Amino acid sequence: MQKPSEKNLQKMWNYARKYAEKSGTYFHPDPAVTEGVILGLAHHMDTLGRPLCPCNFYPNKEEEAKKRRWLCACNEMKKWKYCH
Ligand code: SF4
Repeated sequence: MQKPSEKNLQKMWNYARKYAEKSGTYFHPDPAVTEGVILGLAHHMDTLGRPLCPCNFYPNKEEEAKKRRWLCACNEMKKWKYCH
């Protein structure tokens, strides 16, 4: 994976921090996990223009990014406060 743009990296870090704060959730105890997720989200912002969850496999990323289900924060996070 190519290194994501600084702009989208910052955007996703800000988004994740704000979301955790307002939802009462917290980051993974291993910072490397959070960093990996943020890198993946920023990469999708660069390539798809949307924060598609980096934790899943999609047969067609472009098609998936048009739907709501796996855009961060995903339905699972909203419903159960669960992030992979
Ligand atoms: S599992 Fe949900 S909340 Fe976690 S990174 Fe993926 S889309 Fe975002």
